[in-house]
Amino acid sequence: MKMIQDFNFKGIKAIVRVDFNVPLDKKTFVVTDDTRIRGALPTIKKITGEGGCCILMSHLGRPEGRMEKYSLKPVLPVLEKHLGQKVLFADDCLGESARTMAAGLKPGEVLLLENVRFYPEEEGKPILPETATDEEKKAAKAALKVKQKEMAKTLAGYADVYVNDAFGTAHRAHATTAVVSEYFPKDKIMFGFLINSELAAMDKVLHSPQKPFTAIMGGAKVSDKILLIENLLNRVDNLIIGGGMTYTFIKAMGGKIGKSLCEEDKLDLALQIISKAKEKGVNLYLPKDSLNADKFENDANTDVTAVDAVPDGWLGLDISEKTIAEFTDVIAKSKTVLWNGPMGVFEMEKFSRGTTAIANAVAEATAKGAFTLIGGGDSVAAINKNNLADKVSYVSTGGGAMLEYMEGKKLPGIVAIRGE
Ligand code: AMP
Repeated sequence: MKMIQDFNFKGIKAIVRVDFNVPLDKKTFVVTDDTRIRGALPTIKKITGEGGCCILMSHLGRPEGRMEKYSLKPVLPVLEKHLGQKVLFADDCLGESARTMAAGLKPGEVLLLENVRFYPEEEGKPILPETATDEEKKAAKAALKVKQKEMAKTLAGYADVYVNDAFGTAHRAHATTAVVSEYFPKDKIMFGFLINSELAAMDKVLHSPQKPFTAIMGGAKVSDKILLIENLLNRVDNLIIGGGMTYTFIKAMGGKIGKSLCEEDKLDLALQIISKAKEKGVNLYLPKDSLNADKFENDANTDVTAVDAVPDGWLGLDISEKTIAEFTDVIAKSKTVLWNGPMGVFEMEKFSRGTTAIANAVAEATAKGAFTLIGGGDSVAAINKNNLADKVSYVSTGGGAMLEYMEGKKLPGIVAIRGE
């Protein structure tokens, strides 16, 4: 596999899939968080710095056909500021303007193409009326697959090499994330720096973790995390469970959970996880106590009880002192930590203490030499909220993509370049 750090881009035209799917202010369309734009800068700068030029492609949002509110134009000023240079913009991807602008690019120049999802063939998902029959849906999908190949071929025709640096969409088999690579020789396709570092962090945790290895799983539902938990049970020494999913486990074990979040159809699954952990010699840590509320509001009345004694009508919304003490102790003794999902409803101040305590514990473990990987939208938000992003080893930029990779799935965007 070609590595970007070994490639010299002098005189080379690179087409680069980036993830500029950034949040925009609803009224002004100003970019409100430029993390993803900054994530792509090392790759772009390497290419232009060596005398190559860059054609950037990205999606933004979920448009159905061409919709101006999903235009990538608001990204331009932010990108120009970070790169310190003018960035050209083509208001389409496959039309005359994109083709001529790409053809005329000079060394050091950067061209941004308009939202690739303005074309339904990017995703291969036809836009059909609800009344469409299954037959019609099948036929439309097959026709769009042909167009997807054409789109990929056209884009490939703009450049000498393809670089994929969009980790956030690596789990999608789209024209610009995977199919386009088929139209380049194998030594002309590579990952950018961002994907390389995401893969290095995840592979380190999955394949060569220093022991003890602790996974902290939180968030709302067991069902969203079950595949990840199953894969981790083969690898970790300690599995910490917190957040809303706690109560499905507690109820399965016969505890009282009041009105707390519970997936009634996952009670058996929770018991299976408990016995599988035992079988594999994994220490499973469930909360001991629970911070309960009489309503799902920040101004609710609160009370702390044992986790299996939540009063009728009350909901468990955070972990409390005894749990924080035990979890913190386990994390402090770990050499590798993976954290996915908050310990409580951290969006509300009253129920954010547990998540903040865990964020601090992960940062302290990092300071003592542990490798710590944070992934999944909400645990990343919790780390950022506590200003700890630079106090942990790696914060993943890909929510769904990270989850799927850690579950052991093959991601089309990764396989397209690295192979199986
Ligand atoms: P996830 O996307 O699965 O990581 O879930 C994140 C969400 O889980 C956040 O919005 C939290 O508010 C929510 N959450 C965490 N703990 C609880 C809880 N005890 N009860 C209800 N929701 C929770």
